[in-house]
Amino acid sequence: AHPVCAICHRGLPSRLLPEDPSPITTGQPPRASPGPHRGGEISYFQFPGELLMRMLKMLILPLVVSSLMSGLASLDAKTSSRLGILTVAYYLWTTFVAVIVGIIMVSIIHPGGAAQKETTEQSGKPIMSSADALLDLIRNMFPANLVEATFKQYRTKTTPVVKSPKMASEEAPPRQILIYGVQEENGSHVQNFALDLTPPPEVVYKSEPDTIDGMNVLGIVIFSATMGIMLGRMGDNGTPLVSFCQCLNESVMKIVAVAVWYFPFGIVFLIAGKILEMDDPTAVRKKLGFYAVTVVCGLVVHGLFILPLLYFFITKKNPIVFIRGVLQALLIALATSSSSATLPITFKCLLENNHIDRRIARFVLPVGATINMDGTALYEAVAAIFIAQVNNYELDFGQIITISITATAASIGAAGIPQAGLVTMVIVLTSVGLPTDDITLIIAVDWALDRFRTMINVLGDALAAGIMAHICRKDFAQDTGVEKLPPRET
Ligand code: ASP
Repeated sequence: AHPVCAICHRGLPSRLLPEDPSPITTGQPPRASPGPHRGGEISYFQFPGELLMRMLKMLILPLVVSSLMSGLASLDAKTSSRLGILTVAYYLWTTFVAVIVGIIMVSIIHPGGAAQKETTEQSGKPIMSSADALLDLIRNMFPANLVEATFKQYRTKTTPVVKSPKMASEEAPPRQILIYGVQEENGSHVQNFALDLTPPPEVVYKSEPDTIDGMNVLGIVIFSATMGIMLGRMGDNGTPLVSFCQCLNESVMKIVAVAVWYFPFGIVFLIAGKILEMDDPTAVRKKLGFYAVTVVCGLVVHGLFILPLLYFFITKKNPIVFIRGVLQALLIALATSSSSATLPITFKCLLENNHIDRRIARFVLPVGATINMDGTALYEAVAAIFIAQVNNYELDFGQIITISITATAASIGAAGIPQAGLVTMVIVLTSVGLPTDDITLIIAVDWALDRFRTMINVLGDALAAGIMAHICRKDFAQDTGVEKLPPRET
């Protein structure tokens, strides 16, 4: 419709019109503004770091599939026993509690920046309802195509649509322009100032299921876990596939061990490249400090309050005495950053100092060193939300749930070796579409945080052994000298 003058309602010549209203934009929120050094040289400089990220991403798929399938298949052989079921349930539950503690801490401290939240419209992020986010979560849990799930995930596309007149014949309302101070110049009118009084067009948002690039880790985790449980139930018939997965898992871990040699080199370039990109590295350092404080606070709350209280309520025994008994193991965990390497010491402490039944420790500890990593789960949730905060991404409820599920799964998938959590961190970030390159932001402090979270991982396993020994004390009351559980390698 041709614009009319708001006063005289006569048509306006086009040269008197103010510029068109700016087009409605969609897409991702703008990333941090480019720093003064951004350019081609930076990408060359970042190349060794990019290689490191590629190595990590390459390992996710075989690592997740093989560790979950072989781990759960061999576990399921023991779930016929009460101890097996109780231990696994306890592990999953405490890991999930650790994630919740992490999410609460990171939401309160907000280390990734001031709590000024952009509305979705301000950030340019498409509006997605919580219902859509929940549907995406469920869709991702059940990928229609497993091959596609290795490189695509479901994400509802929300597009703004300018509401059109109801009927084709109906005309859009004319634009109303208020003009001040029209002057006559050389016989023609010249506009000095104009105000557009036309009401803004009504915008509605249309949602439709779509996919975006990035591995659907949640779907792969759910599929692998289900396969693992089913393989365990198949008994001997499942052995070929279980052996294959165990072999795959071992070989992937060997690749990780080789890649670790490259890590320091790649990390230097990753961090340096990241700092060159930044506008204000000091501000980032400050945020990183707050992030480290958040993780440590969460670990302290979980390890020194929640877990000991749980131990106290279930066993009615003094948790401080118990923790004193495993102090040596905690120090080894601090020194080695590896719960697997600490395993023999944890064993020794539990048997000699805390007098836990050997048969219980034999089952609970190795399984715990594989799947129970409360500290790692807590740190993964905090780190993912910190990265979202730094990037000014506002996570919706569905994404927070996704983070809690994937952080739990990522901690289960992480091996008990130094900085294994950093590798599985990619899983959590990919699941909610956060930039995986931003792992580099937290690498600088990870070597230190790894030591603290490993301590909590080991403490969680040890306390679990104490709790299981109490719950199953009747089952193990008579030490016949014959081990009821099949021996496990320790
Ligand atoms: N280093 C940890 C452990 O061995 C795993 C991790 O969170 O990186 O338990």
